[in-house]
Amino acid sequence: TKDDVKGFFIRNAFVILTVAAVIIGIILGFALRPYKMSYREVKFFSFPGELLMRMLQMLVLPLLVSSLITGMASLDSRASGKMGMRAVVYYTTTTVIAVFIGIVMVLIIHPGKGSKDEFTKPQQIEQVSAADAFLDLIRNMFPPNLVEACTKQFKTQYAKRVVHVTMTVNDTIFALNGSQTIAREEMIPVPGAVNGINALGLVVFSICFGLIIGSMREQGQPLRDFFDSLNEAVMRLVAIIMWYAPVGILFLISGKIVEMDDITSMGGQLGMYTVTVISGLLIHAIFVLPTLYFIITRKNPYVFIAGLLQALITALGTSSSSATLPITFKCLEENNKVDKRVTRFVLPVGATINMDGTALYEALAAIFIAQVNDFDLNFGQILTISITATAASIGAAGIPQAGLVTMVIVLTSVGLPTDDITLIIAVDWFLDRLRTVTNVLGDSIGAGIVEHLSRHELQKKDPEVGNSVVEE
Ligand code: ASP
Repeated sequence: TKDDVKGFFIRNAFVILTVAAVIIGIILGFALRPYKMSYREVKFFSFPGELLMRMLQMLVLPLLVSSLITGMASLDSRASGKMGMRAVVYYTTTTVIAVFIGIVMVLIIHPGKGSKDEFTKPQQIEQVSAADAFLDLIRNMFPPNLVEACTKQFKTQYAKRVVHVTMTVNDTIFALNGSQTIAREEMIPVPGAVNGINALGLVVFSICFGLIIGSMREQGQPLRDFFDSLNEAVMRLVAIIMWYAPVGILFLISGKIVEMDDITSMGGQLGMYTVTVISGLLIHAIFVLPTLYFIITRKNPYVFIAGLLQALITALGTSSSSATLPITFKCLEENNKVDKRVTRFVLPVGATINMDGTALYEALAAIFIAQVNDFDLNFGQILTISITATAASIGAAGIPQAGLVTMVIVLTSVGLPTDDITLIIAVDWFLDRLRTVTNVLGDSIGAGIVEHLSRHELQKKDPEVGNSVVEE
């Protein structure tokens, strides 16, 4: 009946508006391309999109901190320990599977066949060693200044300095003896920082802080109430921003289509590479993750994914899993009714360290660059790539094209030319969006799985440990 139809539209208003925004955005983008807008005109045109991005990013900091602290404080330490373990096992397993798919796909399809002349010459990029990047990852877990962690991430930078070394030559074969002082140039690490929140450090701090508050009984009550109320207030802001999201997404997508380079001029190898990445991501997102969800929960994974549609489209529009976080929360808690104690832990941590799409992409892209250079990789090197790709995906922030930057680590670990990252920049804006969708999907399915596995702990309350705040 007419009322049913009306009811359907009202219930699904958000999803319908968001899908419509994508479609209109694509049509509008292509319709405007022939006008060849200037850089500045494109910026004006996509302004409503930029605003959405800023609004979402604005909420990430208070949301991340308040949800982790309340999430941890509302569970007793045993339950949160078990939940944490399950989440970590899930993150690791799915990331390893993703890397594996990426490697298999790139080895089978072999998109890097041909000569390197097809590409424009690589540009020079900054060098970092894998060991330094790894240490930076751990350093970022312990920010010395929490206020700074809200604005900056630590990153080792290098400065050139000249050192004078005295070399003593004592070579018996040539019977040479003597010493000489020479000037040698070397790179020294200097503390540096990059803009953007240090999500990893804030996650570590908030988890610990939340656990402590949870163990404090009455004394912890004011803090529990404070963060709980902060979390609720932020979520209400999210609810308002959601009404604006379709407008923002429309302009983000059409703006990008207007400014993108001509796709038809894309080289054969780059085209094949794009197809390989897309297929890998699709296998992981449409087949592997849903199957895992089904095996563990015995529930229909596609119904679950349908509930996430708005978050996935936001990920596509913003190419940032951390900017999408507020919407991911809404979708999981309201549409899929996932327990808040689970989402509050699994989502912020997942958005920071669990990036299946990025891991898959980094391993695949590194091997593609090897193929383009006719560089034969042995098994050990492929293994090295899988390990560094996993680390690089953990270290990548949930912001646009972060994965492209952390790929330097993967390339240096096996001695591939890091400057060749610039070969794949032309298509990265597009692949970035798709891997962000996969990242958000991975975190969300993780929340569904962890909730199912933790259902017993979630049922019982332990009055001894101050978790009486379990609301809802
Ligand atoms: N943009 C991705 C994300 O936010 C990270 C990446 O560049 O792979 O999830």
